[in-house]
Amino acid sequence: MKGLCVLGATGSIGVSTLDVAARHSHLYKVIALTANNNIDLLFEQCLVHHPEYVVVVNDINAAAFSKKLINTPIADIKVLSGAASLEFVATLESVDSVMAAIVGAAGLLPSLAAAKAGKIILLANKEALVMSGDIFMDAVADSGAQLLPIDSEHNAIFQCMPAGYHSGMQAKEARRILLTASGGPFRQMPVEELVNVTPAQAVAHPNWDMGKKISVDSATMMNKGLEMIEACILFAMKPDQIQVVIHPQSIIHSMVDYVDGTVLAQMGNPDMRVPIAYSMAWPDRFESGVEPLNIFDVRRMDFEEPNLERFPCLGLAYKAISLGGIIPTVLNAANEIAVEAFLNETIRFTDIPLVIERCMEKFSVTPANTLEIILEADSHARVIAHELVVELSA
Ligand code: NAD
Ligand code: MG
Repeated sequence: MKGLCVLGATGSIGVSTLDVAARHSHLYKVIALTANNNIDLLFEQCLVHHPEYVVVVNDINAAAFSKKLINTPIADIKVLSGAASLEFVATLESVDSVMAAIVGAAGLLPSLAAAKAGKIILLANKEALVMSGDIFMDAVADSGAQLLPIDSEHNAIFQCMPAGYHSGMQAKEARRILLTASGGPFRQMPVEELVNVTPAQAVAHPNWDMGKKISVDSATMMNKGLEMIEACILFAMKPDQIQVVIHPQSIIHSMVDYVDGTVLAQMGNPDMRVPIAYSMAWPDRFESGVEPLNIFDVRRMDFEEPNLERFPCLGLAYKAISLGGIIPTVLNAANEIAVEAFLNETIRFTDIPLVIERCMEKFSVTPANTLEIILEADSHARVIAHELVVELSA
């Protein structure tokens, strides 16, 4: 029996994780669930999984949640609040596996705490890895933690790696990664029309059902940019060894190209329960609840090269990783601010890359060798990105 902590339980990944956990309740016991705001869903999840701890980061919501528990069969759940409590539950003795599924930089400290505590980390929170790169991987190596990628592409790559492979190793015989992307909802829209797209259009992803932030990132392809950086860190590859491939059907989730000319691909229906179940069962496999792939329904698979004029965010991510140091942190922070401003209808869709590019230009490349430097770059970049948003919205 493994103890499970789900950081970001009420999000899209959190919900899929609990769906898989419920199918294997003889193998996983839910110890802790965390959420920011959605206490109604959290309450439903607690009725099913009866964790020992719950963290509701926002303290007003935490108080409201405690009230909801009174006179229920789950009144014994310990309710905590505040961001520091996320680190507390991620490092509990009784927790073996931590699903890191908070969106954005907010997930960095608890994910890193789990890494330092030597947990099995099921990592969905790509922003944390983009920000902290070497520090995160060093923490994993030093503590003997096991890092299993949840992002469908990285999970696919992990599955295509040689037997005995662990995250952070360089698989010498693997020469290239083919990182697939759906191309999002605007793959074929005339470029001059992108300026007018609305948040509702941007979050309507053709193949995947995800949280709002990652859905906008998929529409700009910043998601693939962050994933390219994530792949460099997880698989010890150089950016020029990672080829982004637009594959609109989202059936192949990524590929590894070996020196002998073999290309291994992992396929499946686009449902995050596949990579979640793979990581939760690893090194075995178990049932995920996902329908078997009907290859006859797929019929054809297409592949095209991304156009950086249509998707400038992807080019900015390549620039950020090649500059290195704190610049990927700056890219990520500016993107989070710009996406939020777009979702609030403060800036236009095409302003997102402008905010990020101008923000990146204001920073010089400083080595990101301490957590303090990274957190300082993150907050400084947010202030500058806010100013740029105000300028662009005027
Ligand atoms: P989501 O918006 O659906 O859920 C986010 C979760 O994080 C919620 O539980 C929310 O309460 C919590 N949260 C948000 N802000 C917080 C804060 N400041 N402090 C504490 N908790 C906070 O997001 P999602 O789509 O589930 O994505 C989660 C992560 O997984 C992201 O990093 C995303 O890039 C990654 N990911 C998601 C998918 C997917 O299919 N949804 C696929 C691959 C990777
Ligand atoms: Mg992905």
